[in-house]
Amino acid sequence: MATLAASQINFTHQPHPSPVPVDVRDAALADPGFGKLFSDHMVSIEWSEDAGWHNAQVGPLTAIPLHPAASVLHYAQEIFEGLKAYRLQDGTMALFRPHANAARFNASARRLAMPELPEDVFVEACRQLVAADRDWFPTVPGGSLYLRPFMFADEAFLGVRPAKSYKFLVIASPAGNYFKSGAPAVSLWVSDYTRAAPGGTGAAKCGGNYAASLVPTAEAFSRGHDQVLFLDAAEHKWVEELGGMNMFFVFDDGSILTPALTGTILPGITRESLIALARDEGLTVREDRYSIDQWRADAATGRLVEAFACGTAAVVTPVGRVTDPHQGEFVIGSGGPGQTTGKLKDRLVAIQRGAAPDPHGWVMRLD
Ligand SMILES: *Cc1c(COP(=O)(O)O)cnc(C)c1O
Repeated sequence: MATLAASQINFTHQPHPSPVPVDVRDAALADPGFGKLFSDHMVSIEWSEDAGWHNAQVGPLTAIPLHPAASVLHYAQEIFEGLKAYRLQDGTMALFRPHANAARFNASARRLAMPELPEDVFVEACRQLVAADRDWFPTVPGGSLYLRPFMFADEAFLGVRPAKSYKFLVIASPAGNYFKSGAPAVSLWVSDYTRAAPGGTGAAKCGGNYAASLVPTAEAFSRGHDQVLFLDAAEHKWVEELGGMNMFFVFDDGSILTPALTGTILPGITRESLIALARDEGLTVREDRYSIDQWRADAATGRLVEAFACGTAAVVTPVGRVTDPHQGEFVIGSGGPGQTTGKLKDRLVAIQRGAAPDPHGWVMRLD
């Protein structure tokens, strides 16, 4: 059971008896926003100690019955992924690097003492949901069907140990632009809170990391900023990442820097893709430490010309200004979107949309 391959797992199919009415769906697809409306179906697979992964279903999206003692509600054994399904220029449905999400999902599972799901089964589950909800792609430019695979412990037991039963689900939500304002460049608030400590769960995509980031993010919002920036926990000096996006810096010699994956930073697939694309362009990319003080100094001298954040949901977002509660604000470049940022974003989006050749084999066509 542990070595189950996609070819060995059979998904049962049950179409939704009362799907979202077509007029409601079409209105939503014309203006989807992010994460507020869900498609008609979901995939579910169960895991138990005895049976391993079993009972794979594509069925109606519905509430999940949960025992009040389910471990996830008490000890937060939960991990997730986020990836987008697109319609390519020629109308073909596609996923972007789904095996990278599957591999990261299993890395998260290992850190949270959860069972690994064979990569092929993860990808097949995504494929099955997209096939069932193929009418849920947004009609707006830049739209996609955002997939949210996740797993949680559902054993009813209050002792503290890894649970003995889990559910893996995939749900889908039509997505337009992540940042409602559509602001050209965002403003960051440097938090005194930390997101992740050495030896902690910062490199795992687990719900708990997000729970811990909500107060810092609310603080950033209340002070008029768009996103929170976290520094390292040990020295409170080195730039790590935002609540859910990785950081990049562009210098006046054309080189690029992104914080190295030290175990406290989430290894973003957008981050890894942009590093590869920048190197394809002949740019020098370094993965290294970068301090907030150096950033401020480099922004002042003009050595630093651009900064941007990246992640699946918002792709690439230019950073225009940064406010440190102790040192005040500094502005990056013109305070607006920069050239290299725009070029890298365009390169990535063109590959994702099938508008440019895909030299790395990142796009998985579904039909
Ligand atoms: C998901 C996530 C990212 C971005 O990862 P992508 O694979 O590029 O979407 C960055 N930071 C955190 C904390 C995340 O959870």
